[in-house]
Amino acid sequence: MKLAMIGFGQAGGKIVDRFLDYDDRTNSGIVRAAIAVNSAKADLIGLDNIPQENRVLIGQARVKGHGVGADNELGAEVAEEDIDEVQNAIDSIPTHEVDAFLVVAGMGGGTGSGGAPVLAKHLKRIYTIPVYGLGILPGTDEGGIYTLNAARSFQTFVREVDNLLVFDNDSWRQTGESVEGGYEQINEEIVRRFGILFGAGEVGDGEEVAESVVDSSEIINTLSGGGVSTVGFASEEVDMNTSGGLLSRFTGDDGGDDDLDAANTTNRITSLVRKAALGRLTLPCEIEGTERALLVLSGPSEYLNRKGIERGRKWLEEETGSMEVRGGDYPRDEPEVAAAILLSGVTNVPRIKRLQQVAIEAQDNIDDIQQESEENLEELVEDDEDELEPLF
Ligand code: GDP
Repeated sequence: MKLAMIGFGQAGGKIVDRFLDYDDRTNSGIVRAAIAVNSAKADLIGLDNIPQENRVLIGQARVKGHGVGADNELGAEVAEEDIDEVQNAIDSIPTHEVDAFLVVAGMGGGTGSGGAPVLAKHLKRIYTIPVYGLGILPGTDEGGIYTLNAARSFQTFVREVDNLLVFDNDSWRQTGESVEGGYEQINEEIVRRFGILFGAGEVGDGEEVAESVVDSSEIINTLSGGGVSTVGFASEEVDMNTSGGLLSRFTGDDGGDDDLDAANTTNRITSLVRKAALGRLTLPCEIEGTERALLVLSGPSEYLNRKGIERGRKWLEEETGSMEVRGGDYPRDEPEVAAAILLSGVTNVPRIKRLQQVAIEAQDNIDDIQQESEENLEELVEDDEDELEPLF
């Protein structure tokens, strides 16, 4: 499906920038337009692929291009004040060619955390196409203020979008890596997972039409109904053989018996689906109780079969208890077969409950510290017997 992506804040901008690169590399055609919005000039300059005219600096009158720090209330305010400047950039997008908006932001910071929900609300008021959010949760080691920002942004963002897709940095951080290097890998993981998912409904001219293609309306239907979504993913390499065909490591034999091939393909697909659903999700959660799901199988068409997808779909129905599990394939000339599973409307998410708890503790601590520091300052400034008088 074709998306208009708007990256809000540093993380949002960087991720949309990577989506453009992914689109270029894989020819997936999902990014119809890309915009970056930030209150920090330096972050906008640091982007590689988003066109200059689509980089919007907001809040100049208030913060002079230096960002809002981690103050997401200020982030929301400057977004509201300068929404017309963002709208000007959106006006240049051929929105009639776009299936949905995707607003991307890190929820722990200031600009994106506060601004993304404001933009989502604005877009929903003006356009009839769906407005989705891709929200990034901060790592638990980032500290109380980031957690508090994320918890408040999460509440607001979910309410303002048609569906909030969540990616949890905490589940993906690797120890012993520089933060920047870590983010590069994490961002690659984000664009790969969401790229395959959104790319599924986008079959280009001259490309092979799948046996049971995923259409963009199926992605939209899976996301409709709102709430929070997570994505599971698993892939397996398949080799290109020298004669130009594909050597079957995936099916476990090198051709010959067609029936055996089909049976192997079916089994491998089923186990890939299980791995994707039971492995690391973008937002860890219990998959039982998921309201709707979409299974996308991508890879060279000779490795995809209807029976495998059907079995995978059935298994997902049993595991989630959902009556609305869609599935289909996405033929791609890549040397891998991948299963991407969108679980939409998940509600059993202990990670969010923990985030909220830590956020409330942080909020209480901040209030205590502020009160204490006001008292301490008063003690310092006022003389003991109140004998001195201020000038005015
Ligand atoms: P903003 O510019 O004020 O919106 O704040 P940032 O986007 O810099 O940071 C918000 C949060 O996003 C941080 O707390 C991190 O958890 C996360 N973050 C920052 N940069 C990246 C990135 O490149 N990738 C990912 N996945 N997360 C990031």
